[in-house]
Amino acid sequence: DFKMDYKKDFPLLAESDIAYLDNAATEQRPACVLDAEREFYERWNANPLRGLYELGVEATEQYEHARERVARFVHAKSEREIIFTRNTTEGINLVAYSYALPQLKPGDEILVTIMEHHSNLLPWQMVARQTGAVLKFLECTQEGTLPDEVLEAAITEKTKLVAVAQVSNVLGCVNPVEKIVKLAHEKGAVVVVDAAQSAPHMPVDVTALDVDFLAFSGHKLMGPMGIGVLYGKEELLEKMPPFLTGGEMISSVTREGATYAKLPHKFEAGTVNAAGAAGLAAAIRYVEKIGFDTIMAKEEALTKRAMEGLKKVPHLHILGDEAPENHTGIVAFTIEGVHPHDVSEILSSDGIDVRAGHH
Ligand code: PLP
Repeated sequence: DFKMDYKKDFPLLAESDIAYLDNAATEQRPACVLDAEREFYERWNANPLRGLYELGVEATEQYEHARERVARFVHAKSEREIIFTRNTTEGINLVAYSYALPQLKPGDEILVTIMEHHSNLLPWQMVARQTGAVLKFLECTQEGTLPDEVLEAAITEKTKLVAVAQVSNVLGCVNPVEKIVKLAHEKGAVVVVDAAQSAPHMPVDVTALDVDFLAFSGHKLMGPMGIGVLYGKEELLEKMPPFLTGGEMISSVTREGATYAKLPHKFEAGTVNAAGAAGLAAAIRYVEKIGFDTIMAKEEALTKRAMEGLKKVPHLHILGDEAPENHTGIVAFTIEGVHPHDVSEILSSDGIDVRAGHH
């Protein structure tokens, strides 16, 4: 399997000789994902969760099958813990608005790491501003590690919520989520995991990790754009008010008010992205067919080759750990005296697509 040419599975890559290296931003999609989206519209298209005729029931079944596959993929205890969102950003915002805003009080502390993506930082800045909670930062080492002493000193009785990326989109390092969850739970705090960069590259087990919330995006996992996932523990989701209100998230409505649908539909207001969910299920099938052992070994070999090559470039500095196995396929670098946008433009003229800018 290791020698297989996966490139031929991707229509955009198969016909082109660009070196697409911006997978952390969004991955290309294999034909099976494009086919699954198309198949939904060709065979089962109706508004899911609404139509009582056969097609409507089938559309709902396709959508709910996709949810079951996602639940198995992240080892959730129940499909009720899987909310379909648009992307990681929306999943984290759902937690910020529906869990944190009603819960947090002045003086409570929210803890994030210094290496968070803006999507796992701005929602917490908003919560802090609106509730009077204090936003604190965990500093990491040059290699991207979060030493035990730093975690133990930072997570206190005041901590109510810890938000952390499982894998950093800058350094590719894997953060000690298990340890963070243990410390946070000892103090009664909940843990929100940004799995945008981990779910596509390593097995994620929400039950073993005992995380409270975990979000990821379909499009970073070879799935369609516009479909994402929020996992939440059932007992927490159950107590939270809806994030968005409107169609499909209600059980009954009168002139004065409404009662809300049960989980997970309480958090899925409006017409859902069922074709996107079917595409994401196909992407998960594709990943599972190859297997994370193969994916991780292949990514490590490619990272090693990239790092060895980059080290030969004068004035180039690789950020983060020395060891390719601690990069989850992400290699960030600077070149002394050269603006990153210039580096990207020069590489682009050779058909090499990389991400450049402020991270
Ligand atoms: N979190 C991390 C670690 C990411 O790398 C990204 C995207 O680059 C996001 C969150 C945001 O993902 P999305 O734009 O799909 O919401």
